[in-house]
Amino acid sequence: MTDRPLSLVLVSTPVGQLGSGRGGGVELTLASLVKGLAQRGHRLHLVAPEGSCSPVIDERVTLHTVPGVDQPSWQHADRNEPMRIPRDAVLPRLWDRALELASDVDALLNFGYDWLPLWLTPHVAPNIFHLVSMGSVSAVMDSAVADLARWDQRRLAFHTRRQSDDFALVDPPDVVGNGFDLSRYELQLITDGPLGWAGRVAPEKGLEDAALVAAQLGETLRVWGLVEDDAYARRVESAVPAGTIEWCGFKPTDELQRELGGCRALLNTPKWNEAYGNVVVEALACGVPVIAYDRGGPGEIIQDGETGWLVAPDDWEALAKATLQASAIDRLACRRWVERCASQEGLAARVEAWIRRGLLPVNGTIS
Ligand code: UDP
Repeated sequence: MTDRPLSLVLVSTPVGQLGSGRGGGVELTLASLVKGLAQRGHRLHLVAPEGSCSPVIDERVTLHTVPGVDQPSWQHADRNEPMRIPRDAVLPRLWDRALELASDVDALLNFGYDWLPLWLTPHVAPNIFHLVSMGSVSAVMDSAVADLARWDQRRLAFHTRRQSDDFALVDPPDVVGNGFDLSRYELQLITDGPLGWAGRVAPEKGLEDAALVAAQLGETLRVWGLVEDDAYARRVESAVPAGTIEWCGFKPTDELQRELGGCRALLNTPKWNEAYGNVVVEALACGVPVIAYDRGGPGEIIQDGETGWLVAPDDWEALAKATLQASAIDRLACRRWVERCASQEGLAARVEAWIRRGLLPVNGTIS
């Protein structure tokens, strides 16, 4: 294996410009990887929707933006919905630009959860890799992932094993976890703060269960995140006593981590097979134990009894009981877990290793 720096095109999500929050956890993952891969000496082109900012000012990173209409996000579509590409869509333009840049790079790395780049992969000479950002939410996408896995599964990586279990794969999956710039998260050791919840406010995130827990304990729940679904947010709020939820809005990372770090515990209540769960790790990075359903990525990330408590999915009464045990968790141990398992540097190293393996000829010999 060679140590020559790689030249890569990173293709952002077609759901919202970087910094809007509409891309969810992908935005932070991408920012982290841009910084981590640049630090390792690689040359990067970042292709993103117009209005995006580069996560880092670095001579090794060039931002290219293209205009166009957002792609509808798959997690809010019916499972059997067909692939839709709106008129003037940004998605094909991202790939037009990425393929234009491809002639003198080693690989293209896709962050969008979309059919088009998966379908393109076996049809073009440039090496396209995909960091799959969600579990199974659509039949069209399930087939596209399975088809690509049959062609060459080394082009696919996942955030957690539980996420990858959703797909029909032919080999054991490449699981790269995720990574965070830990210099941006401050450990706070206070143990008498409020309860917190963070994420896109949308049904798959299960805010209603966290609200029930707070109501049962007679506490306020501080909620950070983009309200994607207003009607849903109002339904959740009206199901609990007035004042149970304190809406804190969508905050940039610096503020989010400061406020999150003041919490006694983060409640995490996914109703879907969460691929990873960035907010879980961001809370842990600040020393905040996480009390969660044992489902999807959070169920794999949280070390029961060491960095938080896991309870049976959808059992909000068990979640309330576990929340009373939050102070039994050592906040320093939460931070230490993130330093060991979810640093920006670690993610960049794992992604680089995955891409280098995928660039080898199929029989494993170096040509
Ligand atoms: N987030 C943020 N500000 C907020 C609340 C959330 O920047 O006030 C970010 C958070 O840092 C995380 C993302 O929103 O990266 C949510 O990602 P997660 O993986 O938890 O869920 P997703 O939205 O991808 O399903």
